[in-house]
Amino acid sequence: MNDRIGVLGGTFDPVHYGHLAVAEDVRVSLGLKQVLFVPTAQQPFKRDRTTTSGAHRLAMLERACANNPRFVVSAIELDRAGVSYTVTTLEQLREQGFVDICFILGADALHDLPKWHRAADIPELAHIVAVQRPGEVVVLAPVLQALPVLRQRLTLLDGPQLAISSTELRHRAHTGASLRYLTPDPVIEYIDRERLYR
Ligand code: ATP
Ligand code: MG
Repeated sequence: MNDRIGVLGGTFDPVHYGHLAVAEDVRVSLGLKQVLFVPTAQQPFKRDRTTTSGAHRLAMLERACANNPRFVVSAIELDRAGVSYTVTTLEQLREQGFVDICFILGADALHDLPKWHRAADIPELAHIVAVQRPGEVVVLAPVLQALPVLRQRLTLLDGPQLAISSTELRHRAHTGASLRYLTPDPVIEYIDRERLYR
């Protein structure tokens, strides 16, 4: 074990076993001390969709991570409010003393990375760990061409490859389909109690 931490950013609307299995797989593969789950306040690419309140998304994440002492939920982006830029979050985390950071993302997010705010600075601030995601074939060439700094700073992992998405969970909740075995029971209880995604 080392002092490396993982950071998994996302909307988490809601969190699901895809997120949790990816975080655990990367944590064990790279011997990370902990994985920080960072829900966005406002995702730059999702501004057209109304997301569930940050308080609800945070509450669901806390329930999902409660039984894993190596999973930590961070409100760093929600506390900052406004549009959430990963580069700002990584700079803030480094100021807080986290010097060795692995930023974890799924294959879909890796393809978008060159479009992120100050994209070239992100691999300077963190090692990038990209994980395969079903339905998304990793095409590295254009990403490396747009972000040459990534070449020395990228690890590609197979990951658990679970075909689960928050979009699918929202749709299932909306239509009354079951969420069991797609996200932890305490998350489902919270969704039911708060009547989310109806
Ligand atoms: P939505 O359908 O609303 O976009 P999502 O399931 O993609 O939700 P996000 O919160 O957008 O979840 O994802 C946060 C991060 O987790 C992203 O880097 C994404 O690629 C990754 N991720 C989410 N689900 C999976 C999965 N099943 N396998 C691998 N990576 C995943
Ligand atoms: Mg997504």
